[in-house]
Amino acid sequence: MAQEYALASDARVLTSPVIRDGVIYVAQEDGTLNIIENSGVNGYGTAVWPRYRRDNNGSAALGSSTAVTPSETVYLPTVTASAPEESGGPVEGAFIAFHLEVSRMNRVNTLWPLLERFMALADQYGVKVTLQFSAPWAEYVYQNNLLDTVRAWEANGHEIALHHHGPTHKFFDGYTDDPTAVRADGWYATEGMYLGSMDDLMTFLAPLSQQGMTSAGMSDEATDWPAGVLYFATDSGETPSADDLLSTPVEVTHNGYPAVEIYNAGYLIEHFGNAAVDLDDVETALQTAASGEYLGLVFNDETFEKDFNQIEPLFQLLQQYGVTIETVSDLMDRR
Ligand SMILES: [Zn+2]
Repeated sequence: MAQEYALASDARVLTSPVIRDGVIYVAQEDGTLNIIENSGVNGYGTAVWPRYRRDNNGSAALGSSTAVTPSETVYLPTVTASAPEESGGPVEGAFIAFHLEVSRMNRVNTLWPLLERFMALADQYGVKVTLQFSAPWAEYVYQNNLLDTVRAWEANGHEIALHHHGPTHKFFDGYTDDPTAVRADGWYATEGMYLGSMDDLMTFLAPLSQQGMTSAGMSDEATDWPAGVLYFATDSGETPSADDLLSTPVEVTHNGYPAVEIYNAGYLIEHFGNAAVDLDDVETALQTAASGEYLGLVFNDETFEKDFNQIEPLFQLLQQYGVTIETVSDLMDRR
């Protein structure tokens, strides 16, 4: 569909329209700023449209309010939505990247039973999870003789992947290839300790996976992207966004290594605020996904500690839409 709005000047349009809370902003070369209220158009969820993304995909949806009748001329945000494909699922693929976050050992101890419960539920629905292990979770596995459990998950089709917080992350895991970036000024929850290089981290995590780690979720990829890791489940911008629920793979280079990025949005991760998605957002995405788009979800401890009862309905919704959750590496290998 298209909608036309008169602009205040004849000058060329300078930038793409920006939509926020149903208001469209269009700047022109002579400095005119057009503000079109009550358009009935919104960005995806609560996100501003268009949002900077490395895959150049914008997304927007016609809101529930009625659009005002336009008067004359040109320049419009074009809003498109594709119908679900006739055969197969409505999305190209779907994944859950589970961030096993950098935490203290007693915290991991509290969370581990929830992880086991979650994995059992995933198996019940044939959901294949991408479990991103950070160093403390690996430490916990080794200390508690849980390696067989983790290896059984991998043998059962789940992915054992990397989770890394580099020196610019508030919860630094202690590993980096750029020790000069480590801060010790007290801003860090993890006190800026340096434990070793990325090689050291990968060696420490290696026993967890018998297939080798091929995907990651991490910060500081410019300096710390490890050799051998191929796929990056991440945010499209600098911060999490609900808009990242749907995306297409992007080829990038990090730290000199080629990699493929695919984006994901936090499922019921409260501290993300408006950037988190819920069950309704997932259903909307399943209904509006364009051809070739993947649905990417992030889970972390907030998801299953506060909202465990919202996980099974998600699995049921995906089942209802005929969508299978696969691992990041399986999906990207096949693309
Ligand atoms: Zn993390």
